[in-house]
Amino acid sequence: MKHIVVIGTGGTIASRWQGAGYAAEAAGHEVLAAGAVPEGVEVTVRDLFTVNSSRLTSAHQMELLRTVHEVLADPAVDGVVVTHGTDTMEESAFLLDLHHDDRRPVVLTGAQLPLDSVDGDAPGNLYDALLTAATGRDIGVVIAFGGFVHAARGTVKAHTLDVQAFADPSGRPLGRVKFGEIAWGAPRPRAAALPLPDPGAQAPRVDVVMHHVDADPVLFEAALGAGAQGIVLVGTGAGNATPDFVAAVRRAVDAGVLVAVSTRVAAGPVAPMYTGGGAVDLAAAGGVLAGTLRAGQARIAVLAALMSAEGPGERAAALRRIIGTAEDRTPAVA
Ligand code: ASP
Repeated sequence: MKHIVVIGTGGTIASRWQGAGYAAEAAGHEVLAAGAVPEGVEVTVRDLFTVNSSRLTSAHQMELLRTVHEVLADPAVDGVVVTHGTDTMEESAFLLDLHHDDRRPVVLTGAQLPLDSVDGDAPGNLYDALLTAATGRDIGVVIAFGGFVHAARGTVKAHTLDVQAFADPSGRPLGRVKFGEIAWGAPRPRAAALPLPDPGAQAPRVDVVMHHVDADPVLFEAALGAGAQGIVLVGTGAGNATPDFVAAVRRAVDAGVLVAVSTRVAAGPVAPMYTGGGAVDLAAAGGVLAGTLRAGQARIAVLAALMSAEGPGERAAALRRIIGTAEDRTPAVA
């Protein structure tokens, strides 16, 4: 028997009608009872919290991170499934992945249709997640959803309502689940794992500011005024903004704030192509280009860099390692 621990955190997969909309309320064993468990798998449920994921805080995520590590400290456990709301699943998955150093997988899943819907996607997604957790090895933290297994890094919620909710717009899925079997694609390189944050460590404030026509750095400056230690600037195109933003980024970096530059475009990397306020200048001002990470995961990358290193230079170096260059990565599958 493979022993899988299911950690419940809420989300639509645990939601029922409340009279004026859906909200998470079901305990993990109720979620599990909605569907079948793969043959040869036994499950222990651990209820952590029951919230819709748009209400998650860094404190929830740190608790989840600690709990996953606590569960994996037991050698009798073969894998972990986390049931989670889809809204911020990509953020929690990436945080877990950055700290994951274990051959056994952690598999996040959820549903687009509530637990009490007829023909919902919860049972199928949970079955696939359990199968992935029981049989996958050296895949890191993944999202099993809509018949696919996606690597945490780079995956985003790509549709608000469709049951095919997740995709990596710049890459391919890790695996496809069909008829109770997983067809694995090419393995993905993964960054070396970060150390776990100290118990009780407070996550710093990290804000996200988006550029658009007419944008000025007022909201960027407001983030600094609110005490942000990190900011993700979501640029246009390949990571571009204006000379005013470049000046604001320089001031922030000079004050010891960690700045990442992402893009509001769905796919492709940020690239230093343009001057005159573009990514060339934002990088020269000390902004770290976020590769193919979109805003939510770029924010997690900044948060993790801030929590894993001391001092502006070290933190920027940590962020570059997290974003990833070839020499900073280790292969996921031998
Ligand atoms: N709003 C829900 C949540 O993220 C959506 C879902 O779970 O699908 O909790």
